Amino acid sequence: MYAARSWSVRHARGLNAFYRGFESLLVALEPLWRAIGYERLERPVAALERGVKGLLFDCRMCGQCILSSTGMSCPMNCPKNLRNGPCGGVRADGHCEVRPEMKCVWVEAVAGAARIEGGMAALAAVQVAVDRRLTGRSSWLRVVRERVAAAAERPA
Ligand code: SF4
Repeated sequence: MYAARSWSVRHARGLNAFYRGFESLLVALEPLWRAIGYERLERPVAALERGVKGLLFDCRMCGQCILSSTGMSCPMNCPKNLRNGPCGGVRADGHCEVRPEMKCVWVEAVAGAARIEGGMAALAAVQVAVDRRLTGRSSWLRVVRERVAAAAERPA
């Protein structure tokens, strides 16, 4: 829903802080997820994620969430699915050239990132191309696995 998506950008700071805490909790509970089995968890967690993030961000379940780097504005709502900034067609009023009824997701991203500490630096990071094989899968579970794998590789 567009109104909810706009609300999320206006409250990017609080939502980002909440997500940081939520992510830490998910990582802390990793032994539990491993015991249950990630593949067994995939469907229910993805369904929950779709419901929550669909409501707040119009999430398209790309499986590689970058909301924390885009001021809580989901780049997959760009009709061109651009993940590294806007195309050259942003209208003078900041709206999308393809869907003029909505603001460009990247205009929203800058507004949201400005509200988050370190948000503008995160916005400047280059994002890898989206991997379509991950569409529909849980970003939350993927982040947990990545964080745990990175911690295991770090020298003691
Ligand atoms: S970046 Fe991907 S996972 Fe995150 S809200 Fe957008 S579609 Fe959903």
